[in-house]
Amino acid sequence: MTQGAEPVVVVVEDDPNIASLVDMYLRQDGYRVYQAADGETGLERIKQHRPKLVVLDIGLPGGLDGIALCRELRADSDIPIIMLTARDSEIDRVLGLELGADDYVTKPFSPRELVARVKAVLRRTDAASWAGLPPTLSIGKVEVDTARREVRLNGEPVGLTTREFDLLQYLAENQGLALSRRQLLDGVWGYDWVGDERTVDVHVLQVRKKLGDALNLATVRGVGYRLD
Ligand code: CA
Repeated sequence: MTQGAEPVVVVVEDDPNIASLVDMYLRQDGYRVYQAADGETGLERIKQHRPKLVVLDIGLPGGLDGIALCRELRADSDIPIIMLTARDSEIDRVLGLELGADDYVTKPFSPRELVARVKAVLRRTDAASWAGLPPTLSIGKVEVDTARREVRLNGEPVGLTTREFDLLQYLAENQGLALSRRQLLDGVWGYDWVGDERTVDVHVLQVRKKLGDALNLATVRGVGYRLD
């Protein structure tokens, strides 16, 4: 993830109601969204904005439908793609054609579900693109050793619980980004986790207690937390 920038998603969908609903929910979750109502415009937007992920409707007007566009994108990139399908017969086509889409969602879908899928796909693909990076993340004097699941301060191990470690790792992987409590819950606890958002505050408090001033973990008013 680029520091200080929202991840970009391009939504290619010709139904304006669905497009604006998806747009709104993704924005709420901190994504920057560009819309396109047909395949050609979609391809332009994708080339122009280099998104982290594409949400792609299958049935699109014009010469380039979702399947053709997916094929075109796959010809020279592994950009994550989530397909929107309207009918069971389309799912069969998507699966049968082995287009290489990362996931698909069937209409009607809840925008929350789509956002959860977007996050899940980005987590998987980000993990893949980080695979070549060293397993230890350094934030000032703090080292987060993701291979040994150990946190060190000035070289000395600090005892964190599993959840505290996961929280710190997630913050470290998204260093410089303001993350909402909901994003942290989704990213650390899992999007199907049900409970109070104050859980995040309790864990942040513990992490701060254990790492003190060594960690530049800021509270972002009206948003959540950011690790710098
Ligand atoms: Ca459509």
